[in-house]
Amino acid sequence: MPIPLTKAIHKFPRVRLGHTPTPLDAAPRLGAALGIELWIKRDDCTGMAMGGNKVRQLEFPLGEAQSGDADTLLITSAVQSNYVRVAAAAGRRLGMETHIQLEERVPDVDALYRSSGNVLLDRLFGATLHSYPVGDDEPAADASLDLLAQSLAEAGRRPYVIHLAPAHPPLGALGYVLAAEETLAQARELDLAFDAVVCPTGSALTHAGILVGLSALGVEIPVYGICVRRDAGSQAARVRQVAEQLAAMIERPEVFDGDDVLTFDGVLAPGYGRLNDAVREAIALAARQEGLLLDPVYTGKTMAGLIEHVQSGVIPAGSRVLFIHTGGLPALFAYGDKLGSWLSDVPWAPSGEVVDVDLIDYH
Ligand SMILES: *Cc1c(COP(=O)(O)O)cnc(C)c1O
Repeated sequence: MPIPLTKAIHKFPRVRLGHTPTPLDAAPRLGAALGIELWIKRDDCTGMAMGGNKVRQLEFPLGEAQSGDADTLLITSAVQSNYVRVAAAAGRRLGMETHIQLEERVPDVDALYRSSGNVLLDRLFGATLHSYPVGDDEPAADASLDLLAQSLAEAGRRPYVIHLAPAHPPLGALGYVLAAEETLAQARELDLAFDAVVCPTGSALTHAGILVGLSALGVEIPVYGICVRRDAGSQAARVRQVAEQLAAMIERPEVFDGDDVLTFDGVLAPGYGRLNDAVREAIALAARQEGLLLDPVYTGKTMAGLIEHVQSGVIPAGSRVLFIHTGGLPALFAYGDKLGSWLSDVPWAPSGEVVDVDLIDYH
């Protein structure tokens, strides 16, 4: 008899940061536009510092940091990272300083990308920002943080490093095992059974957490991971590596089957953090059908991936689909010019006049 899931998870130190449970919302107008029954897990509403999936993920590493009496957090990610923004806020909540290493993952960025959105918030939280010229070498980014941690320790600080590479135990994925459990409880309450789950997949903490969580709870439904960073093959290997470690951490190694990993990279081009027409259209569609905001880096791509899955028939018409909204909304402003130049075809109407506004055809 395996130990209960909650017991296996609660042996890991945790600090509560999120406003959970987050809502599970029906999205009937957007669903009808896509030809499915669409439900959205609103993890954009996890609360802390504009929310998103990183709030659930950080509860475990920060629990470890706090139980080790750390006073300084170190974290590395992209310039417009939601992870580092939430870490900077959570650090303040817990009375810690945060050092953020910003990697150059996205080519051809403009001034807003470097100053607005998450960067603005990082600065507001008083984090120390460090530039890092590389964007695709996770072990090297971690090593650079470890070096900084060493200097901070020599200066009398008590640093805690939140590593990026998948060789480190995926503590953050525990947050998504709990999220899977939370969502299933909500679905049960509404008497709903989902046919499919769609989520973004980057570091894979979210994807692996949901996959392992559902499986540990005896629910076998496809979880489609929409690639935001790597091609489908590399991403599937990443998810397997994280999910295997996670299943072992919660003492349920038997619940993970590598064949359950589904990844799709059909909307990734031209690459991480870069827009394409399908993503712009998905963002506009959600906004205009449902009053729902999606972000340009993750959830916009994920919605574009869902649309592709329905169009290709991989997710059959009429299916009941759960979309995991992982947040990321501050980045809308950092991509303001790239999105705005596309929207600005629509003029302001002169005062009091009715004009025919030819809205962008987003279908
Ligand atoms: C980080 C992030 C993701 C990717 O989640 P992983 O757990 O890293 O795979 C998705 N959406 C948003 C908004 C994020 O910030």
